[in-house]
Amino acid sequence: MNFIDSHCHLHDSRILDDIPGIVARAEAAGVKTMVTCATMEENFEQTAQLSLAYPAILPCFGIHPWFLDSLSPDWKKNLEQYLVSYPSGVGETGLDFMIQTPDRDRQMAVFEYHLMLAREMGRPVNIHIRKAWDAFVRILKRLGKFKAPGLIHSYSGSGDLIPVFEAHNLYISFSGSVTRPGAKKAVKALKAVSRERYVLETDTPDIYPSLPEPDPHRLNEPKNLAAIARIASERAGFEFKTFSDQAYQNSLDLFSPLLERKKAGQ
Ligand SMILES: [Zn+2]
Repeated sequence: MNFIDSHCHLHDSRILDDIPGIVARAEAAGVKTMVTCATMEENFEQTAQLSLAYPAILPCFGIHPWFLDSLSPDWKKNLEQYLVSYPSGVGETGLDFMIQTPDRDRQMAVFEYHLMLAREMGRPVNIHIRKAWDAFVRILKRLGKFKAPGLIHSYSGSGDLIPVFEAHNLYISFSGSVTRPGAKKAVKALKAVSRERYVLETDTPDIYPSLPEPDPHRLNEPKNLAAIARIASERAGFEFKTFSDQAYQNSLDLFSPLLERKKAGQ
């Protein structure tokens, strides 16, 4: 069975020394591609280097809403330069209203700039939304349907909103949070997504899934995708292989233009 990890952070200092092992274990577990997201300018270069070193690693460049204080005066130019230089998606970017600072207006301005770039460049966008669903829907309604598709990572919204996101050309990504015993809302959302609109992710090294035999260090890695898919499919009442194959196909729909460019060395 094949998998694509649609959202992870392989640049993270907790796991960076172990990347050769992580990539080898992912490959052995059928993970064909890992979409690794930078989170601030400081880790753009590390993310780019990982994608140069490994055919299975596809980069995204963006500023996570938690790290807006790290922005340099040249951040827009810097971001654009990385996007132009590598076959890459935009992200991680988004809105997080669980936190008070950076304030909402600033988060929205930076997020909208990312969306504008994604639109102009025809790139997929890897989106983080927490407790900001109304603001996000307002932005979507104003900007209209995405040209290249995007994904909402580790979806925590309600099932009712999913048709709105699908109509804007967004995919819904599920992480190890669906494996938690109390994850009723996420399982309900998974059931509400159209067959051709869900994808899977680990958010490595975070969101360690609830596994029967967890690793002692509890740092997540892409090899856990199969276990996440198995538990998610069981909980939502889907057949494991059919569910996993469809998730793989859906991720290809999102990322295959970039994967083809990467393969061609463009
Ligand atoms: Zn993330």
